[in-house]
Amino acid sequence: MSEVAAAVKPGRLWIGGAYVDAEGGKTFDVVNPATEEVITTCAAASPADVDRAVQAARAAFPAWAAMSPLERQRILWNIGERLMARVDEIATAETLTNGKPIFESKFIDTPDAAKCFQYYAGWATKIMGQTIPLSTGPFLNYTRREPLGVVGAIVAWNFPLLLASWKVAPALAAGNTVVLKPAEFTPLSVLLLAECAKEAGLPDGVLNVIPGKGSIAGQALVEHPQVAKIAFTGSTEVGKGILRTAADRVAKVTMELGGKSANIVFADANIDDAVRGAANGIFYGKGEICAAGSRLLVERSIYSDVVARLKERAEKSPVGDPMHPKTRLGALVREGQMNRVLDYIGKGKGEGATLVAGGERQPINGKGYFVQATVFADVRNDMTIAREEIFGPVLAVIPFDTEADAVGIANDSLYGLAAGLWTRDIKRGHRVAHKLEAGTVWVNAYNRYDTATPFGGYKESGFGRDMGPEALDGYLQTKSVWIDLSEDRA
Ligand code: NAD
Repeated sequence: MSEVAAAVKPGRLWIGGAYVDAEGGKTFDVVNPATEEVITTCAAASPADVDRAVQAARAAFPAWAAMSPLERQRILWNIGERLMARVDEIATAETLTNGKPIFESKFIDTPDAAKCFQYYAGWATKIMGQTIPLSTGPFLNYTRREPLGVVGAIVAWNFPLLLASWKVAPALAAGNTVVLKPAEFTPLSVLLLAECAKEAGLPDGVLNVIPGKGSIAGQALVEHPQVAKIAFTGSTEVGKGILRTAADRVAKVTMELGGKSANIVFADANIDDAVRGAANGIFYGKGEICAAGSRLLVERSIYSDVVARLKERAEKSPVGDPMHPKTRLGALVREGQMNRVLDYIGKGKGEGATLVAGGERQPINGKGYFVQATVFADVRNDMTIAREEIFGPVLAVIPFDTEADAVGIANDSLYGLAAGLWTRDIKRGHRVAHKLEAGTVWVNAYNRYDTATPFGGYKESGFGRDMGPEALDGYLQTKSVWIDLSEDRA
């Protein structure tokens, strides 16, 4: 094991502002997907542990909700500062567990998580109701926007720290307390977030972290009667199950689910930019990105040129040691995910798509769940690789003839998370952006994010939004207050 990996401390549960062991001392192994080595263990929360965390969050709620907004703002801002003060340690934990390049975890994910806390710090002092002019008698009527109570946040492994921050920061800004369940493969960076939050002055119990299995710890959190809201990021399949469970007790939910996003290249685009954007749209983050531009729709007149350029780009995007600063394509998160991706590559070949680049596992020194940057041409939108979320560096390139054709193919999907389009025609840029059924549309760009603008899905990609002012709505409820202003009757 490398020196860096050997220095990683075992993960424990974070409840009430301190590390504790799981009931019965249960743990699971944490594996480095680039080396296949067990780097440490982590406590695995049982339903009783989940209850402990929920009770800690409940106990902390009244004081946190009543704290002055300015004080909440100060603490949230400081969490961002603490994350950046510990960026090396956090980025290392993220890369060693997820397999993503250290370049991403150090220079993008951790700084973006810090910015997310600092953005919502600003909102803590700006959560306001309205005074409402009524037509019914002499009343003063106003609304208050109040926190929900204990929020259960459940997140995926592809951006462990960032996805957690997208939920924790607005939930805390709104005055809620949180029990956070990270994905089983990537608990360590999120535990460091909890440490940073304590260092920043967050009172004990306001944020609790319960690593563990989805079917045990996650399920117990969803079923817990004292959890007011579930904020979920993960697969559409698991999301549907959570919705059914939450329905039994009418718990509030927001769902950030899967995607099969279309990235459309019109013949009038700057082709160099479009090809760079298309490659970035699928190979960044190893394609383990909910919004990955996994379907590339290319106008027929430039199709063969674009495919040839993508082949060249894919072949110049080698997999590498995720801890090396120059690596841009890391390891997939675990063996099961790698096998799933390879299985889809097999289906693409079997259904008649043309493999033009990649397509193979490529271990480093005989180890690691690395898959080559892969491009399929001659894909039809009814093929499995165009319909199902692969969640890996696999691009399906589909030809189209007209603008209407492109919009039709793009919208012919169960999902609607994101989309991109490349054109020099400003009118077409807006027109097509308005027609695409997706929560985010990039024009002449792809995979751009900013905490200030909302992100979330149409259709089976979910509902509710992370980021932007809209995310706050998911952590607040509105109370209408009526004051009788009539004069006392004698
Ligand atoms: P997943 O659905 O398997 O797991 C997500 C989380 O849910 C994990 O923490 C897991 O432990 C937990 N979980 C699993 N079963 C559960 C249950 N029965 N009850 C409660 N919790 C349970 O997804 P994944 O494989 O971790 O992540 C990949 C998926 O996440 C992809 O579909 C991807 O598109 C999606 N995703 C969406 C967004 C978005 O913002 N829309 C962002 C990132 C990832």
